[in-house]
Amino acid sequence: MSQRPDRHSVPDLHAAPLTIDADGWCPQAQQHASPNCDGRPDDAVPELLVIHNISLPPGQFGGPFIGDLFCNRLDYEAHAYFDQLRSLRVSAHFVIQRDGQLLQFVSASARAWHAGISSFNGRERCNDFSIGIELEGTDFEPFTDAQYAVLLQLTIALQHRYGFADVTGHEHIAPGRKTDPGPFFDWDRYAADWQRRPRHAQLRFRSGSPKVKQEANKNIRK
Ligand SMILES: [Zn+2]
Repeated sequence: MSQRPDRHSVPDLHAAPLTIDADGWCPQAQQHASPNCDGRPDDAVPELLVIHNISLPPGQFGGPFIGDLFCNRLDYEAHAYFDQLRSLRVSAHFVIQRDGQLLQFVSASARAWHAGISSFNGRERCNDFSIGIELEGTDFEPFTDAQYAVLLQLTIALQHRYGFADVTGHEHIAPGRKTDPGPFFDWDRYAADWQRRPRHAQLRFRSGSPKVKQEANKNIRK
């Protein structure tokens, strides 16, 4: 194993514990309040974590455009792809950038608009009862070590606050319509990182997805 540090090495910063306050905000995240949210219905609480990927323009990393989209201030003239996004009103609770930078747009106590038409174990409208985390990335290339490190810390903090038992992907709750986080998201690594911790709570990873879909994903990874 090479010891050579590369740009995907994980600074100590990324392993620092994160917290979620009583209002659903992570004080360690860069906070940008998005208007694209509302209250969870009928006192619904977060019972599910949904993992996504996003990049704007697709396949390009590091720009301000994801946050701009979530805050309805995207410059639609900045790239030809953006024209089709004009009527979109979306958000996610969190974005983890390629370098592990954590951004928060919606309180985890509120309903972000990340999942769209979706169903988890037969229960529809996953936005009502889920927290959405976007990894800056695509369906076509690996995510970074820094992203896995921050995702783990964020999962720990959110699970500690809300006590949910299920983590899944957008593709699993909207099969046929959505493909993210995609075949390059390493569910086994994520689950192993979680389970390596002493006294970890039991979490079901990729839960709620049809078995057929899980088998298909396994084959892609081989
Ligand atoms: Zn998604």
